Amino acid sequence: MIRYFREIFEGLWSLLVGLKVTGRFALAPTVTTHYPFDELEVTPNYRGHIDLVVNPKTGKDKCIVCMMCQRACPSGCITVKGQKPEGAKKRVLTEYRLDFTKCSLCGNCVEACPTSAIEFSHEYNIAGTSRHDFHYDLVERFRDRCRALGVEPKIADLTPVASKPPES
Ligand code: SF4
Ligand code: SF4
Repeated sequence: MIRYFREIFEGLWSLLVGLKVTGRFALAPTVTTHYPFDELEVTPNYRGHIDLVVNPKTGKDKCIVCMMCQRACPSGCITVKGQKPEGAKKRVLTEYRLDFTKCSLCGNCVEACPTSAIEFSHEYNIAGTSRHDFHYDLVERFRDRCRALGVEPKIADLTPVASKPPES
């Protein structure tokens, strides 16, 4: 009989201890983010997949198609292609593909770039149903990001130099 009441008392005591902890944290300020309903704040040095750097005023990229990033990547994630427009002295970037499934975010590509044309994005909210969803066309992303900034993208422009309007 005594054991019966002791078990009831211990159960109630355990319940009260649990409710005390619940009550204490229910009234404390929220320190968690209600992901995915709220945006997470990432630190400035957060490493998402790489992206081409956008000049937000001109819509131009900074890539000189030197292939240093492609050579520096230990995982073979990067494919860069360029072409020389008619009458131009330099090649322009026409294709920049990233296979993010193989990327270790080591940063070799960013460090190797002589013109700081690539940077780590702050993308953390990525998901897919196939590995192909993580094969990124960074030129297309560059165009989308320019449009989001309200600037006309000037990347992979193969217009012959003679027919281009003078730069302002
Ligand atoms: S961060 Fe490293 S692994 Fe990823 S693309 Fe750049 S060089 Fe390759
Ligand atoms: S992103 Fe940089 S390293 Fe890569 S091809 Fe362009 S200029 Fe060269």
